[in-house]
Amino acid sequence: VLATRHGKGEAIGPALAPLGLSVRVTDAVDTDALGTFTGTVPRAGTMREAALAKCRAALAIDRDADFAVASEGAFGPHPNAPFVTADVELVLLVSRDLAFEASAERVVTDVPAIARVARTVDEARAIAALAGFPAHALLVCDGDDPRTTAPPRAMLLRNPDAFDAAVHAALAAAHAAIVGNDLRAHANPSRMRVIGLAAADLAQALARECPRCHRPGVVITPQPGLPCGACGTPSSATGFDLATCAGCELATRTARHGTADPSNCPVCNP
Ligand SMILES: [Zn+2]
Ligand SMILES: [Zn+2]
Repeated sequence: VLATRHGKGEAIGPALAPLGLSVRVTDAVDTDALGTFTGTVPRAGTMREAALAKCRAALAIDRDADFAVASEGAFGPHPNAPFVTADVELVLLVSRDLAFEASAERVVTDVPAIARVARTVDEARAIAALAGFPAHALLVCDGDDPRTTAPPRAMLLRNPDAFDAAVHAALAAAHAAIVGNDLRAHANPSRMRVIGLAAADLAQALARECPRCHRPGVVITPQPGLPCGACGTPSSATGFDLATCAGCELATRTARHGTADPSNCPVCNP
């Protein structure tokens, strides 16, 4: 069972189908109460804790489900590039007794996630274009503080006329409007795509059994460090794959062959 009000079943269901898991979606869990991307409800705890809370709630509602799956996303500085905003998407699967847990995570930098201040409708439209509107739905808030915690004036905006009307209203009320991406999964097709990729990673992890404890769910994480083709320095290109068992914490490294393009090298291309 999957708890979502944001259409994630379409991204997660097909990814888990090859394992013989059929995903039932419940909208009875108010996942927005567990933290949202619209600034209206602050999220408590880590991504794993938030996903686990959704799983527990879904298992309580769907008494026949053997497993629960939930996804959780966060935007913040990229772990290897602090000036780049990254989208981290976690997909977590737990058994009904919570004894078995497996998860996979994707980190990408190409999901539109901006929030900027506009003082005219033209400025607002320019921000909308940067945010990938209308394929990506937008939010409009009153005022000029992008960190505002006030509820947005309008959410899930996909229609240009409705967008203009919301901007006009915010400008009339506060002389400034904050225009940004509505980051909920159903509003942001780029995020939904990454959730699908993380779910596919989870399916692959579940298909791999740990050689030591025989538990399924071995996650493979690419790690940087492929030697530069020109000078041999460890580069930012993937150098080895780290396979980690969540059960016994066995970690094995498999080196990748070849050398990296010098453009990925901190010495040749600082
Ligand atoms: Zn080099
Ligand atoms: Zn193991």
